[in-house]
Amino acid sequence: MKHRFIFVVGGVMSGVGKGTSTASLGLILRSKGYTVTAIKIDPYVNVDAGTMNPVEHGEVFVTVDGDETDQDIGNYERFLDINITKMNYMTTGRVYQTVIDRERHGGYHGKCVEVVPRVPEEVIARIDAAAKAAKADFVLIEIGGTVGEYENILFLEALRMMRQRDVDSVRTVLVSYLPVPPSIGEMKTKPTQHAVREINRVGIAPDFIICRSEQALDAPRREKLSRFCGVAENHIITAANARSIYEVPMSFESQHFADTVLKSFRMKAPASNLTTWTKFVDGLMTVKDEVRIGVIGKYFSTGDFTLSDAYISVLEAIKHAAWATGQKPVIEWLNSEAYETDPALLAELHNYDGILIPGGFGSRGVEGKIAAIAYARKHKIPYFGICYGMQCAVIEFARSELGFADANTTEIDPKSKHPVIHIMNDQTAKLKDAGIGGTLRLGSYPCDLAAGTQSRKDYGQASISERHRHRYEFNNDYRTQLEAAGLVIAGTSPDNRLVEIIEVADHPFFVGVQFHPEFQSRPLTPHPLFLGFLKAAKAQKSK
Ligand code: GLN
Repeated sequence: MKHRFIFVVGGVMSGVGKGTSTASLGLILRSKGYTVTAIKIDPYVNVDAGTMNPVEHGEVFVTVDGDETDQDIGNYERFLDINITKMNYMTTGRVYQTVIDRERHGGYHGKCVEVVPRVPEEVIARIDAAAKAAKADFVLIEIGGTVGEYENILFLEALRMMRQRDVDSVRTVLVSYLPVPPSIGEMKTKPTQHAVREINRVGIAPDFIICRSEQALDAPRREKLSRFCGVAENHIITAANARSIYEVPMSFESQHFADTVLKSFRMKAPASNLTTWTKFVDGLMTVKDEVRIGVIGKYFSTGDFTLSDAYISVLEAIKHAAWATGQKPVIEWLNSEAYETDPALLAELHNYDGILIPGGFGSRGVEGKIAAIAYARKHKIPYFGICYGMQCAVIEFARSELGFADANTTEIDPKSKHPVIHIMNDQTAKLKDAGIGGTLRLGSYPCDLAAGTQSRKDYGQASISERHRHRYEFNNDYRTQLEAAGLVIAGTSPDNRLVEIIEVADHPFFVGVQFHPEFQSRPLTPHPLFLGFLKAAKAQKSK
């Protein structure tokens, strides 16, 4: 089978939507009946995203097979509605690790191992393997960073080598940014021209340019870009700011982007089928009834800026469920540390129809989270706790209902007399051997749901599978006592050894899950627990 490879590279600056562009093109090709997969290349030396600070790098997205990847993999899963695995994510660290291991095992048969071609060869081998595994007609490959950086040069070399191998099977899309400086009031093409020069320098000419900007590209600038960048006018796609990322596929479709790509490969362009997607986007654009969700965490600020990328899948999962329940999501970021210095602030939680605490690590802000959970539990505000948000709910319950004032997780207080959350046995051994990276419990695990619980009702089935990323767990030594005090154990591993879901009865919605349901929410199929949470939030408004 012949695979076609579409590389997506960035020019001018990062964060302009390479991931959304990649996912949107993939979605259209898929709607035409082609098999599509997507690969993300992160040029960092880190072996995976697990050791990167989410404020700097954004969310760590966990795949079904337990890889800790970049948030763009999440975008691919949401747009393409497929599960992506380890094979489709690589970093510089991962590639070098394989090359060095191979060298140590004599794999290069006494040859001098030169960076070129050995490193790009390994990159290409990985791309080919992912293409084959997915039986993909099209493989979209997004190279992180921007052209002209040292970091991604070997990945661009892999692109060049793949073109040399078979020029007909490779296309390059440059996603660029066209600023409109307020002092000039005119859209500038020069930075994009420079980006094209940069990529030309490494032997590549872009076949398509996606022009990200505040407003649409006009005719004179399209002509100018075409002339100076050597790209046909109809291969230049305008991508003005969209109201929602989910609108981008329709914008591309209206410019026949995918058809032009297919034509450039001399392939058939069957009609796209975007009916369901368009209906979904129309729905989210017109929904009016607001639902206010407060998300409490700490990974929000960097210098003077607030970033919500650290929780992008949580954010998207809330949106999917809000839209599906006919509500317009209004999501606010609440810093848990503020509740520690000023507990009176907790009263602001009444402004929200639901409170969510996502995953987290370490002690900063944790007491504020526990205080907020106590408030939501006692004032019957719908509460959804994810991973750390579940662990904190168990701590809060043990403190308030069992009177264990020092109840804690050993992550924070290893000396607590009531370690209701403690280190998982399996993880202790891993920590000894492996330091920090890859030492968490990662990937999908099955979970059985108890009859009569909120979770069982929301899922509508008795066993489920969800993705994990944690090192600590519910301590079974406290299970009987906590249950006697009213904590509901709603989900466990099939062997009943691990508590995966806790609930509180007599509450509009109080659910804590050890796993990360947000990774499995898709725009057209929102996650059942997020749906349950958003339904409870809707009911809360009428109270
Ligand atoms: N810090 C907790 C643990 O390691 C929770 C992790 C998380 O929320 N992802 O178990």
